[in-house]
Amino acid sequence: MKHHTYGQEFFITTQVDKFIAWARSNSVWPYPFGTACCGIELMSVMGPKYDLSRFGAEVVRFSPKQSDLLLVAGTITEKMVPIIKRVYDQMAEPKWVLSMGACASSGGFYRAYHVVQGIDREIPVDVYVPGCPPTPEAVIDGIMQLQNKIRKERNELERNS
Ligand code: SF4
Repeated sequence: MKHHTYGQEFFITTQVDKFIAWARSNSVWPYPFGTACCGIELMSVMGPKYDLSRFGAEVVRFSPKQSDLLLVAGTITEKMVPIIKRVYDQMAEPKWVLSMGACASSGGFYRAYHVVQGIDREIPVDVYVPGCPPTPEAVIDGIMQLQNKIRKERNELERNS
């Protein structure tokens, strides 16, 4: 983005794609798929102390059609797989997935036939946040990593075109 000043006139020149990527990265709309203790920890990220709205992501939606960030927070059992896949399929494009905690990312300590050993076996994951549960700071760091990724995705598309 460049700024130009001619006399009293003030201009900003930029590329629309970069502007859209910047705007997208600062306005993700999360769909919280909280199933266990991580889901409870996620609530504090949304609260006034950690205040996810500082990152433009406070508009939590419980309709996948109005969301572009799936926050998977908690243990996912095999019986939940068709539901989480349906939620993911119904989300608006472009869309992203953040896996919060050991259970969502790897099954955690549930080495059992009924627990999915990582949601990336079923849906694509963009960011993994480690911990059991992850701290709110770690979740916020994950959101910031995702913001960087959204901006870079745009740049990579440009390089390849
Ligand atoms: S990672 Fe730990 S805190 Fe999170 S859902 Fe699993 S057991 Fe609970």
